[in-house]
Amino acid sequence: MGTRFVVTDECDASIEFKQSYLSATKENIDIINSPVGMPGRAIIGKFLDRVAHGECKPKQCPFNCIKTCNVVDSPYCIMLALYNAYKGRMEHGYAFCGANAWRCNEIVSVKELMEQLRLEYDICL
Ligand code: SF4
Repeated sequence: MGTRFVVTDECDASIEFKQSYLSATKENIDIINSPVGMPGRAIIGKFLDRVAHGECKPKQCPFNCIKTCNVVDSPYCIMLALYNAYKGRMEHGYAFCGANAWRCNEIVSVKELMEQLRLEYDICL
């Protein structure tokens, strides 16, 4: 459910972050193993492609934010990658998403989204 609220006017993520949802396809959404030991579903883009080819390495650990992060062996700092994506620097990060993020095709207001959800709910009854 949270996925649909990403592509709303009110979501404070960057327009580039929201655009990654609008451009996502079923084929470029996949489960990845995060550097902190937890799997997550993400939109695969240039950054994760570079990681897959071993091109990213954390230069430093800026915040020491989580015990399970193996800073030495991590391919990248996930905290920075997610913050970069949030700020629109998609070349240096990526977005997590729900399995159906590829279905998002427009940015709407929360009010419009709630109306859509109400309609979809009524159809299901
Ligand atoms: S995610 Fe980044 S900031 Fe957090 S412990 Fe790992 S390297 Fe450090």
